[in-house]
Amino acid sequence: MSGDYRSEPPVVCRWLVRLASLMVPLEERAAWRGSRDASLHGLWVLALRGELPGRDFAFLAWWCGDALADAFRTQCRGFDVRRWVRAPSFLLAGAATALVLMAASTHGFAVTRSLLHSLGRAASIAEQDRLVANLFPVAFALVVSIIAAVGRVSPGGHSWRYRSFLLLKTLLLVTIVPLLWIEGGAAFRKSIPNETVRILAGGLVLVVVFIATFEWAVLWSLADQRHRCPVCLRRLVMPVRIGTWASVFEPVTTEWICEAGHGSLCVCEVEAGEPDHWMELAAAAEYCHEQAEAE
Ligand SMILES: [Zn+2]
Repeated sequence: MSGDYRSEPPVVCRWLVRLASLMVPLEERAAWRGSRDASLHGLWVLALRGELPGRDFAFLAWWCGDALADAFRTQCRGFDVRRWVRAPSFLLAGAATALVLMAASTHGFAVTRSLLHSLGRAASIAEQDRLVANLFPVAFALVVSIIAAVGRVSPGGHSWRYRSFLLLKTLLLVTIVPLLWIEGGAAFRKSIPNETVRILAGGLVLVVVFIATFEWAVLWSLADQRHRCPVCLRRLVMPVRIGTWASVFEPVTTEWICEAGHGSLCVCEVEAGEPDHWMELAAAAEYCHEQAEAE
């Protein structure tokens, strides 16, 4: 291979290194990527001089595969199940797994697809009844949840990553719960031979359970977000409660910290108390230093 020595390595290789680096833990990522980028540039110079062993394409493909494997090994070395459960990826992986399992066990959401199919065309009276019975509770649960969520959500002042995670998590939950209700409800009703029991248990009781679960899921999503680090989105740990319920000047407050050391969050447990207060590690250290100097 001949050409300009200053030219960049193939864009595919550079992107593979960039993608592989996402697997490397955050604290080691910059160093890992720096060394791999330098190695890739060195190899590319050798390729341009025609000094790589064997065919250039095969050698670079092997090198990229090795980089991916190395990034994966680095991730596994630092893997801790308890930390992963607190990471945002755990929730997203759990939701994705639930969707895949549901799709596999319901022939690709067959009941939901048939409902959407009826929605798009002039349906018979029986089909219209089925549509109303399935979709009206979903619309009702959505309205109830929006009313319940108003005032509890304050995404302003947070990063786009924090807001995107809240949006994605809530969207996944408000997709999974209605799918469970439509697909699971249809299977449940089919298994009840008695018509009266089917209408009461499979209809009325299930509607109430669905609406309550839907609202709980939305409120849980907001509560979960409130206890996440705004920097790394991990669940905060080690709650410490201070103050007393009877005191007006020192109300009960719980302080949480980020295990990655990004900062601490003060949550006032009293209704209509102070809003949550996030303090970054550098600011917290400065505050402690000032307090120590004042004493
Ligand atoms: Zn953090």
